[in-house]
Amino acid sequence: MLTRRDMLKMSAAGAATIGLTGAAINNAVAGDHLNIVPPITYKPDSNAKSVYKYKFSDSEKRSLPGGWAREATVNQFPISEGISGVDMTLEAGAVRELHWHAIAAEWAYMISGKARITIIDPEGTSEVADFGEGDVWYFPRGYGHSIQALEGGAHFILTFDNGHFSEFGTFSITDWIAHTPKEVLSKSTNLPASIFSKAKQGEAYIVNGHVPPVLPLPRNNGGRDDSPLKHHYPMMSEPPFFESDEGSVHIVSSKEFPISQTITGVIEIMKPGAVREMHWHPNANEWQYYISGKGRMTVFSSHGHAETAEYEATDVGYVPQGYGHYIENIGDEDLKVLVVLDNGIYQDISLSDWLAKTPAYVLADNFNNNEADWKSRPAEKLVISKGAVK
Ligand code: MN
Ligand code: MN
Repeated sequence: MLTRRDMLKMSAAGAATIGLTGAAINNAVAGDHLNIVPPITYKPDSNAKSVYKYKFSDSEKRSLPGGWAREATVNQFPISEGISGVDMTLEAGAVRELHWHAIAAEWAYMISGKARITIIDPEGTSEVADFGEGDVWYFPRGYGHSIQALEGGAHFILTFDNGHFSEFGTFSITDWIAHTPKEVLSKSTNLPASIFSKAKQGEAYIVNGHVPPVLPLPRNNGGRDDSPLKHHYPMMSEPPFFESDEGSVHIVSSKEFPISQTITGVIEIMKPGAVREMHWHPNANEWQYYISGKGRMTVFSSHGHAETAEYEATDVGYVPQGYGHYIENIGDEDLKVLVVLDNGIYQDISLSDWLAKTPAYVLADNFNNNEADWKSRPAEKLVISKGAVK
């Protein structure tokens, strides 16, 4: 077996012996593609290492009474410069305590269960809202918030628009209070400092609690709901952006969810054998969480570099901005993938659309065949496809 390094070292003469075509050899001899590699024959290997793949199961869980969290930042997953992610589970009533994030906005997707958030914005307006499976929240950078699981508990994925952001480095209320003189606590709140004395003296992070009363809350309970911009979007209850017998795509960008200025979220569902076609995103990095099923992705990064790996439930994938990629369902059940892009405006360019909108005479020259060969190409973007019958 040749490693990539071996292949990169190969001379043009060596390339000839491993079957490169005449044009490729000519390019290599001419010196303008010295790092050309032979076509990759992908051999399925579910353990294949890829710089674009991370297993959440390799992250250490931060476990506390009431819940746990594990994260993927650039420390665990170096390629993921643009976006970090957290997998979190809370038991019924447990609270991810009041906190904020100095260097990242938070975008979340509810995998299962139910949760309630509270959020305060710099204008002093606030929102208290409930979330179920398929719902999305967005908290702008620096806004104070909390998350509490409702009856049955909650499992959700948090993402942050900064790969260097660690969920374990948030600004938590208990941490701050533990590091503030009692007189100042009293002066700052107009309450006796003893009101904080039973709290964990240091960052609590997650605390056990009681399932809260149903909404709406009485007005005198602090449960106001006067924020002009909603932080809640029921992504999977809205009509899909694309749907066919081969799969579906749901998208929530700042167009549908105005507060989500820095993140677009996508749910891609592919039927067995179908592929989310070859495409790239001109304006965003892509972070993926595989919810269910089995997938395969190749990420193409030019200069003859491409990596293929297989992904299953709880795996994380990452595609840097502009890099070509696809996701193929290689299992026998639906493949469901959460895709998070670090731009509030959704953009993609796909291969089928490019072919559809390029004159056949160019394609015939580019691919060394005849204009007539291109007559049957699809007239529009395929998005998700199983391909033509052979
Ligand atoms: Mn948060
Ligand atoms: Mn994509």
